[in-house]
Amino acid sequence: MEKSKIYLSSPHMGGNEISFVNEAFETNWIAPLGPNVSGFESDLSTYLSPKNETYHVAALSSGTAALHLALILLGVKQGDEVICQSMTFSASANPIVYQGALPVFVDSEPVTWNICPIALETAIKDRIEKGTKPKAIIAVHLYGMPYLVDEVTRIANHYEIPVIEDSAEALGSTYRGKKCGTFGDISILSFNGNKIITTSGGGALVSKNKILTEKAVFLATQARDQAPHYQHSEIGYNYRMSNVCAGIGRGQMQVLDAHVESRRNNHKFYTDLFEKVNGVCIFSEPSEHFISNHWLSCVLIDKKKTNGISRETLRLALDKEHIESRPLWKPMHLQPVFEKSPFYGKAIAEGLFENGLCLPSASNLTVEDLNRIQLVIHSVFN
Ligand SMILES: *Cc1c(COP(=O)(O)O)cnc(C)c1O
Repeated sequence: MEKSKIYLSSPHMGGNEISFVNEAFETNWIAPLGPNVSGFESDLSTYLSPKNETYHVAALSSGTAALHLALILLGVKQGDEVICQSMTFSASANPIVYQGALPVFVDSEPVTWNICPIALETAIKDRIEKGTKPKAIIAVHLYGMPYLVDEVTRIANHYEIPVIEDSAEALGSTYRGKKCGTFGDISILSFNGNKIITTSGGGALVSKNKILTEKAVFLATQARDQAPHYQHSEIGYNYRMSNVCAGIGRGQMQVLDAHVESRRNNHKFYTDLFEKVNGVCIFSEPSEHFISNHWLSCVLIDKKKTNGISRETLRLALDKEHIESRPLWKPMHLQPVFEKSPFYGKAIAEGLFENGLCLPSASNLTVEDLNRIQLVIHSVFN
């Protein structure tokens, strides 16, 4: 019998999602508004907000839509420039181009793999010198690992450039005890099928500033002015989350903490597995100030220290056993579609891409799945 496929990050239902979805059907709220949408927003707001502070949430159709609206809310227009972490998924950068603006890519630092504060400052200074001050900075918590929040925020504040925090992969991570998704002037989340929780497809825009989240909802529902007829004074979008999808989200919120724990246990499993393997380094938190949800567990493989075993050797060996793994994100400044964009930094992101591999990390991996993975890894590294 053919073995079942082990995926990198598959959806994982908790059980109560279906009752929220049924409720939507029973009450006929089959629309991009309704009690599940407001309920999900309220659950997220409660989850993210520290004591004595409230973060507001707008539930949207995707993380990409949230990024697009974030740029619009910050006034990014044709001819503007926006700084973006190069090492990320293309969805972080594409909305810059939707606005007719130019993405300016910045390298990673080797500790959190996220935007390098030194290269960031160099980029800002050089763009200003060349005549265009960047309109925003998009920083990403890659694979759930918080970026160097203090350093990046300090630079952004110094140059008075707003930060869009791409927390698509980092719901449940914290930096100095504060939740990721609360560090940007505007933050975004994703509930795509492969993320830590899913609404089958969805996203959210988060901000401390209620005016911004209300404006996001206005733009996401076709920018209708107050009037009995259809009246528009701005260009709108159809980016709101459906009440059916939001029902899945409400069920998923009940298991978010359990999902974080499972993913962190996967990371522990890989840490133990690779502990004695020379040349393989598991991506881990640099200090106690960082807590990653370990959305994906990743390794760097230095083939000079592994007798020539590369990330490709391991990927192909896993693939042969129907186990999915994937190289790290290919940096945006190396993508053909962005070849005209400037890049600041060295070759950190490029090196991560060449040597890094994401391993199966779903919260519903079984003991049997882990055993199959372990067997392959043992056989490759002997
Ligand atoms: C998934 C992801 C997005 C996009 O979210 P969607 O909901 O799929 O549109 C954006 N940025 C990063 C870093 C992501 O991983």
